[in-house]
Amino acid sequence: MLTLPRLQLHRPGSVREAVELLASKPNARVLAGGTDIVPNLKHGIYETEHLIALRGLSSELRYVRRDGGRDGDSIRLGALCTIDQLSKDPDVLQSLPALADACRQIAGPQLRKMGTLGGNLCLDTRCVYINQSYFWRSALGFCLKKDGTACHVVAQGLRCVAAASNDTAPVLLALGASVRIVGPRGERVVPLADFYLHDGIHNTVLEPDELLVEAAVPLPAARLKQAFFKLRTRAAIDYSAINLAVALAVSPAGLVTALRLCVSALAARPALINRLQDLVGQPADLHLAEELGRRAQKQCKPLTNIGVDPAYRREILPVLVRRTVLRAIAS
Ligand SMILES: Cc1cc2nc3c(=O)[nH]c(=O)nc-3n(C[C@H](O)[C@H](O)[C@H](O)COP(=O)(O)OP(=O)(O)OC[C@H]3O[C@@H](n4cnc5c(N)ncnc54)[C@H](O)[C@@H]3O)c2cc1C
Ligand code: SF4
Repeated sequence: MLTLPRLQLHRPGSVREAVELLASKPNARVLAGGTDIVPNLKHGIYETEHLIALRGLSSELRYVRRDGGRDGDSIRLGALCTIDQLSKDPDVLQSLPALADACRQIAGPQLRKMGTLGGNLCLDTRCVYINQSYFWRSALGFCLKKDGTACHVVAQGLRCVAAASNDTAPVLLALGASVRIVGPRGERVVPLADFYLHDGIHNTVLEPDELLVEAAVPLPAARLKQAFFKLRTRAAIDYSAINLAVALAVSPAGLVTALRLCVSALAARPALINRLQDLVGQPADLHLAEELGRRAQKQCKPLTNIGVDPAYRREILPVLVRRTVLRAIAS
């Protein structure tokens, strides 16, 4: 049986208290729904003696709110919204259907009721060589991410390439979301496009004493044609082998006026596909869907970081992009 290390649990009653605790306890970690951090603690992936539980912040951080801000209308999602809640919320279903779809496909029913949006956006990266017991990892000599000096995915690799496996991230990236972060130095808003880093050991710009409190999606997103797709081995309780999301603005004449495509579960950072500007003004049709598939395949490089054959993932990617783009266009 895997057991938890000795930990002190702190239960702040407000964001301010939580941030103060994070700043005063070195190596403290945040516990939201606990569906990811608890197994990782049992596997000895973190060195920490203090957990800061967010449950007491629910009245502050569990909301879906529409509002008109300086930069126009947006839909604001508190970090403690559960995945289950977002999959059923009427505003999310109406304005951000691709997000509701992604949430419906995360883990299983119990995990969706416990798991939160904040925990999903801050989810640790995954790799077949790290999401294992301490004993299993010790037999292999550990790896760069924890306790070792080598990467087993990229020989001589100097950087961890474990996969970002959170299903809300590609959708919120495609929809142009930003996140609000609170820490002892104040508050900052970071476009999600700048939130993730190419480093599987710590793949976000969050400092250890900061809390992600909200994601905001600009509401023109509600008028976008949007779709999410998740490739997984089993249709239940499986992490993505590839996940992707597309958002398109299409004129009444059927021409693309804006588009974003995000592909993830391949590397540490969800990949917003670059250099799509020349496709603006093109008809939203099969040709566009196929071209997006080709560009995604060119820019993405599946690795042996998860237990699904990278050659298969590379071949299937343009097919999945084409189908998802056509689904978005038809929506
Ligand atoms: C069997 C199984 C299957 C799963 N399948 C999927 C899947 O298909 N897709 C998927 O996306 N996920 C999956 N998950 C992972 C997980 O259940 C979800 O990602 C969930 O949304 C995580 O949220 P949480 O609140 O439980 O996070 P926690 O476990 O509480 O936290 C996750 C990480 O985020 C940090 N954190 C949490 N909240 C904040 C915050 N507000 N600010 C700063 N840091 C924070 C924690 O410190 C921790 O490092 C699965 C998990 C299991 C056990
Ligand atoms: S990608 Fe390499 S360093 Fe990162 S968890 Fe996997 S084996 Fe370890």
